[in-house]
Amino acid sequence: MSGLWGLGLAGCVALVGYRLRLLTLGGALSALAVGASVFGIGGWAASAPMLAFFFSGSLLPRLLGRPHKTERRTALQVLANGLAPTLCCWSAWALPEHALACWWGYAAGLATAAADTWATEFGTRFGKGARHILTGSPVPKGESGGVSFVGTLGGGAGALAIALLSAPLMHNRAAAIVTVAALGVAGMLLDSLLGATLQARYACPVCQAIGEQRQCCNTRAQPHRGVHWMDNNTVNLLSVCWGALSGIAFYLLEALLHTNGD
Ligand SMILES: [Zn+2]
Repeated sequence: MSGLWGLGLAGCVALVGYRLRLLTLGGALSALAVGASVFGIGGWAASAPMLAFFFSGSLLPRLLGRPHKTERRTALQVLANGLAPTLCCWSAWALPEHALACWWGYAAGLATAAADTWATEFGTRFGKGARHILTGSPVPKGESGGVSFVGTLGGGAGALAIALLSAPLMHNRAAAIVTVAALGVAGMLLDSLLGATLQARYACPVCQAIGEQRQCCNTRAQPHRGVHWMDNNTVNLLSVCWGALSGIAFYLLEALLHTNGD
């Protein structure tokens, strides 16, 4: 697909996302950059899983009947999930002889992003008794670092959906689909692990509540634990990058085993 077509189609999606109040203006511009890269370089094969991820993240809360309204996605939120897959597209374009490795990375990064998003939606809607991924102690629903059975199942479904939609990018091989789905689940667990350990928590000087927000009770909450600059977007960015790198690593490993097996 030519770059002009890519820009046009990505522009339509970004505009629809903005008009449906799924994206802020910055979010729409970021989605335009991500979408133009994906459409322009990877055509429909790469665009199908990206579109599924993008719209499922916004539509799942509505489909599942989650009571509160969805907030518009900002540029940082779009790039936290979209940057690593976009870099994979650019790498596939720049290094055509390694394109297949890059598409495995693209699919696994996107599977990680989808697994995390779906796990949060299913866990928040249906999950009972979310527990801290390391200590097993009960944590409030939606809290970073908490995992629940239903949330994890939902995350697995999200990773599998992306892996299936990415199959044409990976020569429709069953081993690739299973590997990418599993790497998406692994990336989601890394996201929870980082959320439980390194992600910053803040203590409110007024109400003493400890949470992920820097603002509470109209005042600035104080750093409590974790790395003070590591917020939810940073954790997402790191886990999606990890997912993409693991996809490339497993492609290389699989290619090596395949060559030796012949
Ligand atoms: Zn407070």
